[in-house]
Amino acid sequence: MLGFGLIKGLSVTLKNLFSPVFTIQYPDRRVGLLALSKHLDKPISKILTETPKIFLLGLVRMVKIPVKIDQFPRFRGNEFVWYDDRCTACASCAKYCPLGIIEIVTHPGGENMQAGENYAIDKFDIDTGRCMFCGLCVEACPYDALHMGTDFERGNYERVNLVLDKETLISQNKNPSSWFRPQFEENEYNPWEKDLNNPKEAGRHEKPSYQNIKNKWVSKRKLDG
Ligand code: SF4
Ligand code: SF4
Repeated sequence: MLGFGLIKGLSVTLKNLFSPVFTIQYPDRRVGLLALSKHLDKPISKILTETPKIFLLGLVRMVKIPVKIDQFPRFRGNEFVWYDDRCTACASCAKYCPLGIIEIVTHPGGENMQAGENYAIDKFDIDTGRCMFCGLCVEACPYDALHMGTDFERGNYERVNLVLDKETLISQNKNPSSWFRPQFEENEYNPWEKDLNNPKEAGRHEKPSYQNIKNKWVSKRKLDG
């Protein structure tokens, strides 16, 4: 029938016009007054009196609010979380990395001599620009010092800025992914809700203290002997 194709095509357009929208605006979305009030947790009257300019923008749905994308706690971002307090500089992570992109430089720390001495860390770099985020380094870490991170907004203009160095790893927010970390799931830790800054909460067991090691390997042996 003449014109049937046109009607058929327009019906598809009409159907999609009124179907739910699946596109998510990111990193900001434009909202009206109701959504803004909910976002700010403030009544609309207060927005009018305190920030009339924003109120007017809200009237025409032109206020931008950041979008929070919900992810699962096991989501792996393109970064890492490292607890220097838990790290013994054993370099297992660096040895297991198939791409050899973890660089660790240490010097003898002068403690725990009886247990083979510890190491102080001079350099701990991960080149995320070459990383495939396979997680083998995280699996290899015997002390739960290294975790996959959850942040995924680390885009950069220069590759050199994709290297996560020791200082960055120490100072950045700590929201480790619960991927390969059953203790986080047991404790119902959700990296999207809060930071996990306490290194003691990050591991399955505490890093033994110098005194613990000495008791186990030196004092006890003397008694046994
Ligand atoms: S996630 Fe994989 S590629 Fe990236 S540093 Fe760890 S082991 Fe290497
Ligand atoms: S992060 Fe873990 S595996 Fe890597 S050096 Fe530190 S303790 Fe060893």
